[in-house]
Amino acid sequence: MYNLTIAELAKGLRAGEFSSVELTQTFLKRIHQHSALNAYVTVTDELALQQAKAADAKLASGDASLLTGIPIAQKDIFCTLGVKTSCGSKMLDNFIAPYNATVVDKLNQAGAVMLGKVNMDEFAMGSSNETSFYGPTKNPWNTNTVPGGSSGGSATAVAARLAVCATGTDTGGSIRQPAALCGITGLKPTYGRVSRYGMIAYASSLDQGGPMTRNAEDAAILLQAMAGFDEKDSTSVDQPVPDYLADLNKPLTGLKIGLPKEFFTADLNSDMAATLEAAINHYRQLGAEVKEVSMPTLKMAIPAYYVIAPAECSANLSRFDGVRFGYRCDNPADLSDLYTRSRGEAFGKEVKRRILMGTYALSAGYYDAYYIKAQKVRRLISDDFKNALSEVDVIMGPVTPTPAFGIGEKLANPIEMYLSDIYTIAINLAGLPAMSIPAGFINGLPVGLQIIGNYFDEARLLNVAHQYQQVTNWHQQKPKGFE
Ligand code: GLN
Repeated sequence: MYNLTIAELAKGLRAGEFSSVELTQTFLKRIHQHSALNAYVTVTDELALQQAKAADAKLASGDASLLTGIPIAQKDIFCTLGVKTSCGSKMLDNFIAPYNATVVDKLNQAGAVMLGKVNMDEFAMGSSNETSFYGPTKNPWNTNTVPGGSSGGSATAVAARLAVCATGTDTGGSIRQPAALCGITGLKPTYGRVSRYGMIAYASSLDQGGPMTRNAEDAAILLQAMAGFDEKDSTSVDQPVPDYLADLNKPLTGLKIGLPKEFFTADLNSDMAATLEAAINHYRQLGAEVKEVSMPTLKMAIPAYYVIAPAECSANLSRFDGVRFGYRCDNPADLSDLYTRSRGEAFGKEVKRRILMGTYALSAGYYDAYYIKAQKVRRLISDDFKNALSEVDVIMGPVTPTPAFGIGEKLANPIEMYLSDIYTIAINLAGLPAMSIPAGFINGLPVGLQIIGNYFDEARLLNVAHQYQQVTNWHQQKPKGFE
């Protein structure tokens, strides 16, 4: 049962082959059995069973959506009413959210069953899940390696069959990179497609929630429920949500694929290059035309991002002051001591590094030199994508420079850690949608193919991914020990 996709489970539930309560119990049992993976921060057993019962009633009455009764894991960045919402930080270890994020409300309305809250890098800052206050999550394909980050708990939960699907968020790669390293399908939607209300902010102009699933069809189902205008989020875009399942079976004949020459350089490891080449050949066989495109500003994405994201994070995280919610130090001497010790004691090293970098970049003497400059670079990067996407329908490339790396391997060197997002970050700066889909293995570890599309072209991305998944079975492989 736990190996089935959302679409398959929805059929089984309707046919009465099993109930949502049975399905939910199966997943809860697996979560506890595999707790060593450290995928979950909080397991909401009781709530899940209540939701499952309600879902069974809805199914019986014929008033059900495809997600009704489907067990899902929520990234611990989404506020969940009455349930701890930690964002992977000691700062929020005691925080019980007083309201639901819009995404959570929408999934509840669709009848999904929340199994619990999954682990993540602290405040979504990281690429390995190692910055979490709750310790690293392990990659089920090799438990000595990282699952990626920051949505590492989500990726591990889906890959190890500890949830059917999960939510994630992506500021610079946090859906796509863990999806690639764990062999699942992840989609970062166009900026503004999914409401950020109740999604704890890291870098507000880049953050975007999206689905993490076994395959593209499930991603379509989950995105359908997550997407849409929200008057509570002024950056959510008021544009109708198309039927993402409707376009899944369109042939790819004549699809124009662009390969940025800046992605396929000598720096790309040769196994990675060979894996991607094989994937692109599948697309040629499916009728696609492939051409080279050039985006010269891509190389500036990491430096621009590491000015903009920390600048925004330094502003967003100023709300955690030990006064209104979250951690408060013991016996503060005065107000200033309360602020500095609460923040000093509760934020981890990487979060502090980002706040310092951001505060520096925004300070009076440096604002123009760093922040404004980075914003200009951001525009150039968007223009490069705009040009490329005027010639082709989608852009393809790697998601990560290598498969999963070892736990601890990059901890001592933050720059090397930042470089793990070298292929994903530019897409966030441009606000475009992009997917990661399983495209092969290197030494037993999954490799992802990235598919980037034009604004609000998620339906096309999903179809392009789905067609590949009809002729390959990478997405169906299961990590040993978790089958
Ligand atoms: N690894 C990147 C960072 O640390 C991206 C994280 C994310 O997308 N949330 O900022």
